[in-house]
Amino acid sequence: MNRVLVVGAGPVGLSAALALRAHGLPVVLLEADPKDRERPGSRALFVHRETLRLLDGMRPGLADEITSYGRTWRTRRTLYRGREVYSRTYPPASGTPPFTSLRQVDTERFLRTACERAGVEFEWDCRVTDVRTTATGVRLTDEDGRVWSGGYAIAADGARSTLRSGLGIAMEGGHGEGFHVVVDVADIPGAELPLERVFHYEHPGVGGRSVMRVPFTGGFQVDLQCRDDDRQETYGSEEAVRRWLPSVVADGYAERILWVSTYRFLRKVAAAFTDPHGRVLLVGEAAHLFPPFGARGMNSGIADAAAAAAAIAGTAGTVAEFAAVRRAAALFNSAAAGKALDHLRPRRRIVRVKQQAAAALAPVLPWCGSWLEHAPYGPRGGAPVVAGGKY
Ligand SMILES: Cc1cc2nc3c(=O)[nH]c(=O)nc-3n(C[C@H](O)[C@H](O)[C@H](O)COP(=O)(O)OP(=O)(O)OC[C@H]3O[C@@H](n4cnc5c(N)ncnc54)[C@H](O)[C@@H]3O)c2cc1C
Repeated sequence: MNRVLVVGAGPVGLSAALALRAHGLPVVLLEADPKDRERPGSRALFVHRETLRLLDGMRPGLADEITSYGRTWRTRRTLYRGREVYSRTYPPASGTPPFTSLRQVDTERFLRTACERAGVEFEWDCRVTDVRTTATGVRLTDEDGRVWSGGYAIAADGARSTLRSGLGIAMEGGHGEGFHVVVDVADIPGAELPLERVFHYEHPGVGGRSVMRVPFTGGFQVDLQCRDDDRQETYGSEEAVRRWLPSVVADGYAERILWVSTYRFLRKVAAAFTDPHGRVLLVGEAAHLFPPFGARGMNSGIADAAAAAAAIAGTAGTVAEFAAVRRAAALFNSAAAGKALDHLRPRRRIVRVKQQAAAALAPVLPWCGSWLEHAPYGPRGGAPVVAGGKY
C-alpha cells in the first residue's frame, strides 16, 4: 500500500503514526516545528485507562512505560467554601491503573520515542500549506514547495488545522464566556503535597472562584475558574499568579511556577471528519475542541487516531464509518463538556443554589457530596467514545 502521511506531531499525530506502523503501513510524519522544539506545558495531564490500552495495542509495553513514570492518586476530595464535602480513598488497582497523570510534554516524549523505534519517518520544519485529494490519493504541498503524496493523510495539525480549512470543512459550535488560568507548579522536594486531586468550590482565598489541584510527576497543576468579568492581567499573568497562588496552596510555591496559561472555553466539532474522497481523516483538535474538564481532548484524540489507522488499514470499518463514529463520539463529548461547564460556570442562579444546598446537606446525605464531586467532569462515555471521566 502507498505510504500514509500524518500531519502534526502532537500527541494525536504521534499516536496515529504509531498505530499505522502497528498495522504495518509506511508512515511519513510532517511537522511544522523544528526537531528540537520546546512544547508548552499546562495542557493534558490525565491519560485514561482506555487510552493506555489503545497505546499498548499500538506498541506493547508502552502503557507500562507511561504508567511507571506517571502518577496515579487514590484520594479525591471536594471542598465547598473551605469545608470538605466529599473525600474518598480507593484501594490500589491491579493491572492497568484507571488513569495516570503526567505533563503532556512527557506523554509526547514517550510517544515520540515509540514512533522512532517503530520506524516512523519524521520530517521536521515542514509546514503543510496546501492539500488536494483525488479518488486514489492525497497530495500535500509544504511552504518550501515540496510535494508529498500518499494513499491517505491523517490531519492531526491541531486547532487551526490547515488541512481542515484547505478542504473547506467548517468547525461548528461556539465558545463560552470568560477564561480559566492553568498553572503548572514544581513540587518542593521533601515537602510534596499529598497525592490527591482536590476540587474546591468557591474558594475563599481567591474571592469565591473555584480551584482544582491535580498532581503530576514532579509537581501539580492548579486550575482557577475566573469570572466572566475578570481581567486576564489580574489573574492570568505570572505576576498575578505569584500573588494568588499562596492562598490556594501552601507558601513557597510562588517561586516554583513552571508554566502559566489562560484558556477560553471552546466547544467545536468539525462538520465532517473526512473529505468527499475519503482520503484525509481528521483527528484530535483538528476535528474537535472541548473545554478541559473531563479530560476529553487528548484522550478522545488518541481514540480518533487508533480508529483512523484501523480504517486506513482496512481492519475495522471503512473511512466513512470512521468519520461517522468519531464525529458521533465528538458530539457526545461536546455535549458532556457542556454539562460540566453549566455546572462549573452556572448561568442560572438555581444551579448555584443547588450546589449550596448540596454542600450544606453533604454531612448527612453523602450523595449530595458525591454529586458535588462528580458533576464538574460531566457524564462519562463508554470505551468507544473515550473519554469523559473523573479526575
Ligand atoms: C489547559 C488544558 C488542559 C488540558 N487537559 C487535558 C487533559 O487533562 N486530558 C486530555 O485528554 N486533554 C486535555 N487537554 C487537551 C489537549 O491538550 C489537546 O487535546 C491536545 O494537545 C491535542 O493534541 P493534537 O495532537 O490534536 O494537537 P496539538 O497538540 O495542537 O498538535 C498539533 C501539531 O501539529 C503541528 N502543525 C500545525 N499546523 C501544521 C501544519 N500546517 N503543518 C505541519 N504541522 C502542523 C503543530 O506544530 C503541532 O505539533 C487540555 C488542553 C488544555 C488547553
